[in-house]
Amino acid sequence: MNITLGKSWGMRIISPLQKLNPSRVDAIALHHMAHPTADIYEVERWHLNQGWRAFGYNYWVDFDGTIYEGRGYQHVGAGVENQNDHIISIGFQGNYQSGLAGIATSPAMPDAQFNAGVDIINWVMERVPTIGRVAGHRDFMATACPGDTFPLAEMASRQKREDNTRKSSVKDCTNELIWRGIITDQHRWDGKGAIDENIAWLFDKYYWYILKNGGSVKRPLSVETAEKAVAILMKQGILSNNTLWINKAYDDPNVWWLLVKLSDYIN
Ligand SMILES: [Zn+2]
Repeated sequence: MNITLGKSWGMRIISPLQKLNPSRVDAIALHHMAHPTADIYEVERWHLNQGWRAFGYNYWVDFDGTIYEGRGYQHVGAGVENQNDHIISIGFQGNYQSGLAGIATSPAMPDAQFNAGVDIINWVMERVPTIGRVAGHRDFMATACPGDTFPLAEMASRQKREDNTRKSSVKDCTNELIWRGIITDQHRWDGKGAIDENIAWLFDKYYWYILKNGGSVKRPLSVETAEKAVAILMKQGILSNNTLWINKAYDDPNVWWLLVKLSDYIN
């Protein structure tokens, strides 16, 4: 497990942090951001704009499973009003509350984010052995945080998820691909997935791959050919038949575009 330290991500400390007395700490509170995409820098801006001395959470976990140190376990956090002297707060990227007006709910928590959450909880509990409780922000005060779709009980069990062999529907997959900006025409791809079992297979393999490993467009259109795209997807175990997919890409420009976008995302 890796923790990206505050000085590595450039955490800003406006005024000195207060020391936390570890013997008083008895709980960990989990939070979501109530925002579908905000990264740690955006959340830091919110907190500094409130006049806080620094980013508030003790730790923070993004969709891809990167764990960031905020105030750490040696300093008082700002996560649960009036109770931060006995609670360590861990924030999670995403909006895990359904039905918020104008705010998209994040897809089911990716395995990478979930397992990193379990890792940091266990890591903190090894260092602060007085902690006896892992709960949601809402268990300490009146709030919906961390949201009704946050896997709270599962995470509080502190067991990591196994490699996933569940089968997803085409719709689950296209929802995920739309959300990540990999496809734009969901209707087209639902239709292709329904009539072409190879497309359905590709969606399923890719879906579990990105839930487990994450991904993002770091170098847009770094992949320009079907051959290169198929090679990348084969290397990750998402495709297994080189010729089939290269032929499909030459037969159908939409498939060519899909393969390029999928491979670009994880390249
Ligand atoms: Zn919260």
